[in-house]
Amino acid sequence: MVKYYFYTILVLMIFGVPAVSSRFGTQVDELAQIFGNATSQLAAVILSHNPKSIADIQAKYSASPITADSSSIIPIVQPKVRILLVPGHEPDFGGTEFGSLKERDMTVELAQNLSGFLANNSHYQVITTRDKNQWLPTFANYFKNNWQDIIDWEKASAKDMAYRISIGSSTPSVPIIIHNNAPGDVVNRLYGITKWANENDIDITIHIHFNDDSVHPYNVPGSHSGFAIYVPEHQYGNSTTSKAVAETIFKRLSKYNPVSDLGGESTGIVEEPSLIAIGAHDTANAASMLIEYAYIYEPQFTNPDTRSLALKDLAYQTYLGLEDFFGSKTVYALGSSYDTVALPHSWMQAISDKNVQNADVFALQTALLNDGEYPPKQSDLNQCPRTGKFGLCTREALQAFQQKYSINDEVDTVGKKTRQILNQTFGGTNTL
Ligand SMILES: [Zn+2]
Repeated sequence: MVKYYFYTILVLMIFGVPAVSSRFGTQVDELAQIFGNATSQLAAVILSHNPKSIADIQAKYSASPITADSSSIIPIVQPKVRILLVPGHEPDFGGTEFGSLKERDMTVELAQNLSGFLANNSHYQVITTRDKNQWLPTFANYFKNNWQDIIDWEKASAKDMAYRISIGSSTPSVPIIIHNNAPGDVVNRLYGITKWANENDIDITIHIHFNDDSVHPYNVPGSHSGFAIYVPEHQYGNSTTSKAVAETIFKRLSKYNPVSDLGGESTGIVEEPSLIAIGAHDTANAASMLIEYAYIYEPQFTNPDTRSLALKDLAYQTYLGLEDFFGSKTVYALGSSYDTVALPHSWMQAISDKNVQNADVFALQTALLNDGEYPPKQSDLNQCPRTGKFGLCTREALQAFQQKYSINDEVDTVGKKTRQILNQTFGGTNTL
């Protein structure tokens, strides 16, 4: 869940006098005439901004190892795509909660799964900003040693954007939501992460979050479900590359997971000008996105038997989406021939609504989805998500599956005959 918006108009009102970015270097003289010496002084404050193009990061993925001549003792260096994973919120506070579930911990679990998939692929180098207890020392030290620099950079970027708006090269951010009480330290750390990513040649930054519905009673699930990917607004330098990566991730996620049915998120990929995490004020070089993977109260998370599997599958879909962006020929993770971690699966016991085996049901729903029966006709994944619970959606899909395979005597039950077909088609030992 994201609460940190920026207030461009307010900044424009406060700072008024514009600054100059290196991007507008050729206009410095003209500006000096308009704004006098102040402009020249401000110009020095702005850091260079060099967003990654699609070609930049795809070239890294497909580059051959840099080899020294055979007599050299210099090791072979393979250029790697540098990915920064940012589990949403802080180690000990922030984010939404539902019952005993904490968003800030779920984001870490998903990040650790995603990091594991990426680390097993030699094309990637992955860095995760924190675990459940603390920031990675790299970031803890960076925040500590560069705190004032981060604040200065943040202010300079805001001035730069205000200037761009004033000369008509950028348009004001919409929506403009003013949060006077935005926690300053959290905002500074988010800018700090972007600044660090710029200075450390990060190619893709993924911020991991879970959403919440603002109006539902405590411990009662809200009415919305599904995922949404936030990307930088089109006028920002990192927008095109971010959107291209987001699109391949979206495609993978949307096969198995519902797209958010909240009004503003229903397109799945949402351009957002004011999210600090993905480069408000055009600050980020890396392709950046913030993924709200689901709503925290969705049943696959509240059910402890399916939570870890559901989180791992979201991570796997993200990994596959990245591989798609790079046109990978391997696609699946080492050891898997499926595009989901829920398969293959061995069904050993009968399943019905009276005898629910949660991991079995999650795998059953996944198998039925791959076989074309799930969600059942006239339903979508928002109405019938993969939950691990044997309810009406699963019963209807199971009926269609049994009809297809002419099984007539296992009504509303995954009996021996149904299991046989399932195990023949989707069975096996899961190595992921
Ligand atoms: Zn969040």
